[in-house]
Amino acid sequence: MKKTIAFLLLLGYCITNKENIQNIQKRTRVFHQVWNTLFYAQARIRIKRKGSMKMSEYFSVSDIFGENVFNDAVMQERLPKKTYKKLKEVIEAGKELDLETADVVAHEMKEWAIEKGATHYTHWFQPLTGVTAEKHDSFITAPMPNGKVLMSFSGKELIKGEPDASSFPSGGLRATFEARGYTAWDCTSPAFVRQDAAGATLCIPTAFCSYTGEALDQKTPLLRSMEAINDQALRLIKLFGNTTSKKVTPSVGPEQEYFLVDREKYLKRKDLIFTGRTLFGAMPPKGQEMDDHYFGAIRERIAAYMKDVNKELWKLGVSAKTQHNEVAPAQHELAPIYAEANIAVDHNQLVMETLKKVAGRHGLQCLLHEKPFAGVNGSGKHNNWSITTDDGINLLDPGKTPHENVQFLLVLTCILKAVDIHADLLRESAADVGNDHRLGANEAPPAIISIYLGDQLEDVLTQLISTGEATHSLSSEKLETGVKTLPDFMKDAADRNRTSPFAFTGNKFEFRMVGSQDSIAQPNVVLNTIVAEAFSEVCDILEKADDFDLAVHDLIKKYATEHQRIVFNGNGYSDEWVEEAGKRGLPNIKSMVDAIPSLTTEKAVSLFEKFGVFTRAELESRAEIEYETYAKEINIEAKAMIDIAGKQIIPAVIKYTTKLAESANLVKSVCDADISVQTELLKEVSDLLAETKAALANLTAVNNKGGAMEEGREQAVYYRDEVRAAMLALRAPVDKLEMLVDKDIWPMPSYGDLIFEV
Ligand code: ADP
Ligand code: MG
Repeated sequence: MKKTIAFLLLLGYCITNKENIQNIQKRTRVFHQVWNTLFYAQARIRIKRKGSMKMSEYFSVSDIFGENVFNDAVMQERLPKKTYKKLKEVIEAGKELDLETADVVAHEMKEWAIEKGATHYTHWFQPLTGVTAEKHDSFITAPMPNGKVLMSFSGKELIKGEPDASSFPSGGLRATFEARGYTAWDCTSPAFVRQDAAGATLCIPTAFCSYTGEALDQKTPLLRSMEAINDQALRLIKLFGNTTSKKVTPSVGPEQEYFLVDREKYLKRKDLIFTGRTLFGAMPPKGQEMDDHYFGAIRERIAAYMKDVNKELWKLGVSAKTQHNEVAPAQHELAPIYAEANIAVDHNQLVMETLKKVAGRHGLQCLLHEKPFAGVNGSGKHNNWSITTDDGINLLDPGKTPHENVQFLLVLTCILKAVDIHADLLRESAADVGNDHRLGANEAPPAIISIYLGDQLEDVLTQLISTGEATHSLSSEKLETGVKTLPDFMKDAADRNRTSPFAFTGNKFEFRMVGSQDSIAQPNVVLNTIVAEAFSEVCDILEKADDFDLAVHDLIKKYATEHQRIVFNGNGYSDEWVEEAGKRGLPNIKSMVDAIPSLTTEKAVSLFEKFGVFTRAELESRAEIEYETYAKEINIEAKAMIDIAGKQIIPAVIKYTTKLAESANLVKSVCDADISVQTELLKEVSDLLAETKAALANLTAVNNKGGAMEEGREQAVYYRDEVRAAMLALRAPVDKLEMLVDKDIWPMPSYGDLIFEV
């Protein structure tokens, strides 16, 4: 209030003095800066008086949120009106960007970034390596005759970059001698300044394509799929009489799980360093059986870390919202507020980078691997997904009486159909090497795709299928706790089901299969495209229908009936479900290697080509890259095991056996007492040592054979079946040895040290 009055006074002063618009803008900027500094100082004094926090730790969220983002507010403030308007048209209506506009934007972006301390800019992109890539260029131009340099950044440099494409995975899309690749500015995701040890860098989110325009990254197909669902969803809602919405976008909110371990201990584990997961390790006496970590009070050290992570993310405009401890000891979760799919994907990359970067400052190491510890819950990512119009209508909102909401029922049954027909593709989109330890292995969620709808919607669907008419919706009930002083409130109309891989949760679907370190781009590409296909098919029918209402009714009933097999509300972790799903004919694809072929089926090719999301060549290249990635990652794991077993474990065990033998000899010579413990242990340990040596030799031979094979499916299958088996055969005796050998001699921290002593 005070601020508004002061601002109006300032405005009044400017108007009375007939100041021009640039002057007023400048004064406004200075006014905000001064006011915020004063406010900040005042708050610091108040906090210091109370003594509740160190002054240096104080910050105001609303002040820092988005401070390092070239967002709409900054653009509006800094760009000339005409340029701003043109850029908005490009962003919102997908119009072409002209070089003149780009030049003005680039100049302002550079000035803004330099004010934030930036010396370099980078085209920030997501090649198919699983991590983001960047090449930094400084803003400086060639020195002038007086020896000084200017800082420049042109529109051309903003919109186009030329990294060497031959060094990134292309899956045969290009030969290595054809090096040209382009990064293209994605103006729908705002540029940001990242501050780290390298100083400050202006990061420009970009798409990455080959010389011939084929997508070599995650972003390009994502943007294409967003266009597909936009086109088809607009067609659909128009049929229902919507004339106001101009754009439909998928909204995505990913919940990110991660582990934190002590960095000193991490550095003593070569397996974690090289592969992100432990390759050896006996179970500690306590695991997660007490369920005492989930939502438990957050420890000081972790809380300080989370605070720092949030601060960094808020500066980057990432709306980190919730944080809590997860099921496993040392496991945690962070969820942002949902955003447009494209921004959500970029933000999730920033979340992962930030989680890792900030951990170092707290003497911690963040593990994003899906399964860092065998026998302990792994990490995933819940991809919450809905479809929203630009005027705020969520197409997945059922309202209070879903049975009357015909548009919702049609959208819902389209999704049932899409997921049923393309279950294999959805499963594939969550496949990565680490996730094989979760999906279809001994951990949930299962590898079988099914949909949880909850009682209310399932009941509506049952009515539709049995009588062709849904006449009522189960309503929500009051929650009764039996305690008078607790407030009464209405429960949700449906309970939750944590075991479902694809669950309806009120006004969105939650796809829970995604791996914790994987990009969420691919699952969203698949979701957007398969739903676009279902929408397009109903539109084809409805646009020609004589009786619209009847046609809609028939379609809902038809889809609900034909695809009801995909709906499952029971326990997805049970063996009965596996059997039942088999009877229903639902695919149960247990490994990444088995999932990859679904990328190149005729069904997939015609789906993706129809909506211009992938060409056949792009799909084939992606399948090839995935086979290569699989073999390479397992090969690295095998080599890490060979290294650790040969150089650390066997020498340590020999040291221990020597100690045992010496002890036995000593006892014998001094007092001839009972040395049965030493001899029994020596025998047991020596036998396991021999087993270890043999398993090591076998793994070396098996892995060498794999390395000599030609890259492709056959090699990946070999790594999955032969190399992994040989790895397990080596791990078994080593884990037994860990339980016998003197802890002081064992060469690395144990599971207990890692997950209970953070
Ligand atoms: P839950 O407890 O259902 O998992 P949360 O409210 O914690 O729900 O939300 C989980 C994630 O889902 C958050 O990132 C949230 O922003 C996101 N989310 C909420 N509503 C939607 C929606 N309509 N579309 C997409 N994501 C959503
Ligand atoms: Mg959730």
